[in-house]
Amino acid sequence: MHQLTIAEIIRGLRDKQFSSVEITRQLLDRIQQQDSNYNSFITVTAEQALQRAEAADRQLAAGDAPALCGVPIAHKDIFCTSGVRTSCGSKMLDNFVPPYDATVVENLQHAGAVSLGKTNMDEFAMGSSNETSYYGPVKNPWNTDRVSGGSSGGSAAAVAAQLVPGATATDTGGSIRQPAALTNTTGLKPTYGRVSRWGMVAFASSLDQAGPIARNAEDCAHLLSAMAGPDRRDSTNLQRDAEDFTADLNKSVQGLKIGVPKEYFGEGLNADTAARVQDALKEFEKLGAELVDISLPHTDLAVPAYYVIAPAEASANLSRFDGVRYGYRCENPADLRDLYMRSRGEGFGEEVKRRILVGTYALSAGYYDAYYNKAQQVRRLIKQDFVDAFGKVDVIMGPTAPSPAFEIGAKVADPVAMYLEDIYTIATNLAGLPGMSLPCGRVGNMPVGLQIIGNYLDEARMLNVAHQYQQATDWHRASALSLTEAAAAGGE
Ligand code: GLN
Repeated sequence: MHQLTIAEIIRGLRDKQFSSVEITRQLLDRIQQQDSNYNSFITVTAEQALQRAEAADRQLAAGDAPALCGVPIAHKDIFCTSGVRTSCGSKMLDNFVPPYDATVVENLQHAGAVSLGKTNMDEFAMGSSNETSYYGPVKNPWNTDRVSGGSSGGSAAAVAAQLVPGATATDTGGSIRQPAALTNTTGLKPTYGRVSRWGMVAFASSLDQAGPIARNAEDCAHLLSAMAGPDRRDSTNLQRDAEDFTADLNKSVQGLKIGVPKEYFGEGLNADTAARVQDALKEFEKLGAELVDISLPHTDLAVPAYYVIAPAEASANLSRFDGVRYGYRCENPADLRDLYMRSRGEGFGEEVKRRILVGTYALSAGYYDAYYNKAQQVRRLIKQDFVDAFGKVDVIMGPTAPSPAFEIGAKVADPVAMYLEDIYTIATNLAGLPGMSLPCGRVGNMPVGLQIIGNYLDEARMLNVAHQYQQATDWHRASALSLTEAAAAGGE
């Protein structure tokens, strides 16, 4: 049953091939037996999951089941869950049990989904490899010596290892798409404001957006339909009515205009990764789409602008963790200043401290105009590049990440090398656009992701385009487990 997609589970439950309790129990067993290999979960809520599954089975039997009734999922540990620890991958929140659910959690619960627990992540979602987590790195199911990507590496690895068919994730600069690319899963970052940020631990508020990671585009459509929607509690929410993102999946892509930005195929892109992405573009031509050469001239400014704006917002957001209200508090503080300093000094990890320092510096008097304002101006130019491009094309395609998953530890000592992991994903966050990653091949045994960038609020079309590709190709069906199981059996 662990191989089933969300769409298949929805059907299987309704056709009474199995119950929600049965599939939930099976996945919980798998997590217990196998997750020590991957470290993809921080907290497993077995008892609560089984109770919810029982309730879902009753609803299914009564015939009034909502869309995702009885479907097992997991939440990135950045979403507040009532009564369940929400650590955000940090020692700072290791003891934090929220008294309420995030809107995303609430929405999925209303849709009937059954959460099995909370997935591992980079500390406060800062990272591209899941190595900054207080709970240790997540290991890539395709090769456990390699990173899973980050910051939503736990959600991506849990889906790739078939511990859960889909999971929530968040993307500030690439954290849904890059781990999806590295683990052969499909992930979608919606248009900024499409999904409520209420109850999501804030990293960089003008960039953060929640979305799904699953095995294919169709499953992402099912999850996004439940996650998205209006929410008065988030002032940046677009207040758009919920949509059925599965409605357009089967449209033809005949005549679709695909923009191929030359800046996404330059220096720094692994040659084999480039070849897989080119193959995917050819496949789209076979499906009747037209490739159009475009330019996004400010692409090289995206990473530097992001590393001013994101740390600036993070330094403000993370000021709430002061050892007084909630979260970690140091032992025996001498006075209030000592309490603040040691609680933050001991509670935050290295990368988080680096961001707070950079952000505080960029926002300080005398530097604000030189750094923060300048970065905001660059952000405007980056957005304009996309607006111009979408005057000519329907979607934009390129690689998600510059290379396949690297070895655990390989980039830890070099933050800039790590930051460049998001070179193709960050601009969409700065512009507020939706983006997706889907499997498009492998280099050696490691997966490669194709990125699709859509126009504002064009998620339905992106999902349609991705689904059409997945009807024509099998990359997304390949499983990491055949390798792991072969290795366990002593095979190649
Ligand atoms: N890797 C980027 C960072 O470290 C993006 C992280 C994210 O999207 N949450 O900030």
